[in-house]
Amino acid sequence: MKRFILAGLLILFIVYGCGQRFPSKKEFLMDTEVEIILPQGNEEDFTAAFNEMRRIEKLMDIHDPESEIFRVNKLADKEPVKVSKEIFEVLKRTLKYSRLTSGAFDVSIRPLSALWVGKGKLKEVPEARKIEEKLPLVNYKNIILDERNQTVEFKKKGMALDLGAIAKGYALDRAIKVLQGRGIKEALINAGGDIRVMGERVWKVGLQHPRKENEVLAVIRLKDQAIATSGDYQRYFIKERKRYHHIINPETGYPVTECMSVTILAPQATQADILATSVFILGSEKGMELIESPLKDVEGIIIDAQGKVFLSSGLKGKLRINSKI
Ligand code: AMP
Ligand code: MG
Repeated sequence: MKRFILAGLLILFIVYGCGQRFPSKKEFLMDTEVEIILPQGNEEDFTAAFNEMRRIEKLMDIHDPESEIFRVNKLADKEPVKVSKEIFEVLKRTLKYSRLTSGAFDVSIRPLSALWVGKGKLKEVPEARKIEEKLPLVNYKNIILDERNQTVEFKKKGMALDLGAIAKGYALDRAIKVLQGRGIKEALINAGGDIRVMGERVWKVGLQHPRKENEVLAVIRLKDQAIATSGDYQRYFIKERKRYHHIINPETGYPVTECMSVTILAPQATQADILATSVFILGSEKGMELIESPLKDVEGIIIDAQGKVFLSSGLKGKLRINSKI
């Protein structure tokens, strides 16, 4: 017997083998439904994990005037802004991935993402003039991190950060860390399709077809791993038969059109989340090169704009794709 869980903005279905039902709880946070499954957890363990994810949500919320990131966005183009060690380390990590992806991943995307996906947007194509205007503000090389003083500064006025491509992954890793600290040995956390599992158990998750909401394209086995998907079907609108979505090429200022979806498997969710967004922008050729590069234990499934499926070397022969795109 199989059981499927389907949530609002879901990218993956979770399939448990053998009909086992484990204690689970769902809450709506980080703009999506988050489910935590703990085969041996108690009430306090669930609460601790959800609380940690709420803490990260707040820490990274660019709209919350009390969040650190809000303060950075408001002030860092005028003066160095002191931040917590946690935010400093997260930013360091994003810059590392910007270098690794030749700037495809850029945490300073906010001036452009605000045009496309700012509160209540993602309905209209912004004026070309406005996109042109914001383009020079997006460049991770203009973020100055001062290790000694733990400060962030922007070289250009009007720059701003957007942690949207990393927040869910980071929250998953943090929640798992909290559970480990409480002695939990097995867990699965699903944040709208980005998933991290912990422990010796093998979990099966179903990859969603990028154009057919209820179809499982492939069943993926996960053990002590994370999986994240970036797709053009998660947040989008269609205008004059063209699809516009929330992942933006920092070079052009427009949503990228290379792929329908990119799924990354990695040891940790932060890395999987960043890489899914990055590979989505890089496209199948450069993206697969990145997956196959010396990144350790990283695998990926790329579905390009024509519906062609590319599997990384570690998945070839192991993963069955069930239907045509
Ligand atoms: P994801 O769904 O994980 O691929 O993340 C998409 C989100 O990341 C968007 O909603 C934006 O907040 C942000 N984003 C969009 N384009 C980029 C980019 N080129 N680099 C970094 N973050 C981006
Ligand atoms: Mg991502």
